Formats: sequence, structure tokens, C-alpha cells
Amino acid sequence: MQPKVIPIVARRPAAPPFSGGPLADTRARPMRDLRISVTDRCNFRCVYCMPREVFDSSYRFLPHEAILSFEEIARLARVFVGLGVNKLRLTGGEPLVRRNLDRLVAMLAELDAQVTLTTNGSLLAKQAAALKKAGLDRVTVSLDSLDDATFRKMNDADFPVAKVIDGIETAAAVGLGPVKINMVVKRGVNDHSIVDMAQRWRGTGHIIRFIEFMDVGSTNGWKMDDVIPSAEVVRRIGARWPLEPIDANYPGEVAERWRYVDGSGEIGVISSVTQAFCWSCTRMRLSTEGSLFTCLFAQSGHDLKGLLRSGASDTQLRNEIAAVWQQRADRYSEIRTEFTARNKKVEMSYIGG
Ligand code: SAM
Repeated sequence: MQPKVIPIVARRPAAPPFSGGPLADTRARPMRDLRISVTDRCNFRCVYCMPREVFDSSYRFLPHEAILSFEEIARLARVFVGLGVNKLRLTGGEPLVRRNLDRLVAMLAELDAQVTLTTNGSLLAKQAAALKKAGLDRVTVSLDSLDDATFRKMNDADFPVAKVIDGIETAAAVGLGPVKINMVVKRGVNDHSIVDMAQRWRGTGHIIRFIEFMDVGSTNGWKMDDVIPSAEVVRRIGARWPLEPIDANYPGEVAERWRYVDGSGEIGVISSVTQAFCWSCTRMRLSTEGSLFTCLFAQSGHDLKGLLRSGASDTQLRNEIAAVWQQRADRYSEIRTEFTARNKKVEMSYIGG
């Protein structure tokens, strides 16, 4: 049996009272987004994220009592929104494998923040209407190839492309469009699909975003040679349909935007490896079991569940979250080397993608 990767969770002494005013970290970054991992489980075994050799049938996922309830998540989300967060993203693992997720969406939709979801799309066609009705604002679907054989190989669950496309179309039909579609590009595995993917989504209003393969976690065997730099993606697509850069929608937007000169829409590239954007990172992450992580590449988190379950007041939770953010100094992608890439980092399926 594989040992479960348990991150060391730092418990802090009681946080000092947060004095109010704009909340900023040590590099003057505000806290605007909260990514909430609602489960560490997934029905896919994507080779770059949850390789089957590690996440096999003997892998011990978190037991039910260890994971935050919807009520606990909603209570924390309210405190985060009070501290300036204006976007909540549900993720995982695969968020749609958590039962009745629309119930959580409805609770979060009462807050003054956008509610979004990142999913592999496999269960989206079934759930899109209920999610929309519950108040979901937008959805991002991960899709790594249009070539069925390549896609099945990458998800390592023999899942067909057609069902994910059905999920994207159903989401758009119920009013969750335009849909953002994320493709992780791994050299020699799916880079032959880059131009096909651009072609498929050109002119549909949906936005395809190409993500550089990252060294998240410590089980995906990352090597720099496997990364296709975003500049190469833009060059390959631009050679077929000329592209020009456009401004970000808002400060700190992760994807760099390019539009087709012929007016057929836009694409995005996310270049965490070749063009780090730590300076503008406004994201906090809440893991499935209630730990706070200030960086996707973190090696440890800050336990919030303990505080929550020991009867802490909202003010205590607020002080704790504010103190974690105020001490944040992370800039992993700016200082990444092949050596740091091998550090024992928390898995993305646990921390939330
Ligand atoms: N299961 C959901 C999904 O598939 O979208 C949400 C969780 S998944 C961890 C979130 C995103 O992270 C997906 O778009 C996935 O492709 C991306 N991802 C996972 N591992 C990655 C890696 N090593 N490099 C780049 N992106 C990665």
C-alpha cells in the first residue's frame, strides 16, 4: 500500500487581532481569490496529476470525517469574503464527484463573490442545470486533447472525449458559457493537439487556454524537457491564424490573452514555468481537510479546521486567516530550479488545482 502523502501542517499560536483596512502580504499582494478543494478524489488518473502508480486502489484518500462539511466551507468562505476575496473557485480532486455539490454552490452564491468551478467535465452534462440553478457563475473544463486515443491515455480512465464535449455544450446551453477550456500541454504526449484544439474552439465564444506542464506535487515525474513554453504554443497557432496580444481583463489575471486578428475570438496561455506571475498572485487555497495554503507549490499548510472545530468565533477565524496572508512571502515560480522542482510538495489533487 502506498503511504498517503501527508503534508506537515503548521499550527500557529493564536493570531493577533486584524486591525482592518486593506489586507496585503509581505509583497503587497491583496487576497482576492479563494480556491476551495472539496474532495481529494477524482475519477480520472491524469498522468501529470494523479498517476495511477501512486493513486492506485490501495491509496488512502481522506476519510469523510476529515473533510470539511459544506456548512464549514460556507462559514469560512464568508469570512474570506469579508477580508476582500471576490472570487470563489470550487476544485479538487474532481469537485463533481462530491455528492450534492449544487447545495454548496447555493450556500456560496449568497455571498458577495463570483462562484466558479473547475472540472474535468465528465459529470458536467448531468449536473450543469442544477449548478446553474444553484447560482454557479462560470465553469472551466479541463480537456487535454480532441484526439480520443490521446485523451483516454492522458486521463488513464479510458474516458472518451465526446462526453467532455457534451458537458461543455450542455454547460453553455444552460447559461454557464462562455466556457473556459484548459489544456495542459506535455511535450511528446499531446502537443500534436494544440492547433486542433485552437481550431475546434475558434469562433465558438469559448476560450481555450494552454497551460504549461508544471512541477506541482512530487509524483508526476516533472522534467523541464516536457514543458512546451507558451511562446511556442502562440507561435504554432499564430502560424495558422495570426494572433495579437490583448490586455488582461483585470489585474492579476493568470492567463495571458491573445486574439485572432480575423475576429474569431481569443485564446489564453498560462506560463507558470517560463514566465512566472507570482508578483500578481492573489490566490489563497483551502484544502479538502481545511488547511490553508498560500502557494500551489507549498510544502506545508496552516490548519484552520482545528480552530474551526474547537469552537472559534468568526473574529478568531478572521484574525487567523489575515495573519497567514500578512506573513505570505511565496514566489516559488520565480525561483524554481530543477533542484527545487524535486522538493516534496503537496499534491495538487489535495490542495486544489
Ligand atoms: N478535476 C478538476 C479538473 O480536472 O479540472 C479540478 C482539479 S485539476 C487538479 C485542476 C487543473 O489543474 C486542471 O486543469 C488540470 O489539468 C491542471 N493540472 C493538474 N496537474 C497539472 C500540472 N502538473 N501542470 C499543469 N496543470 C495541471
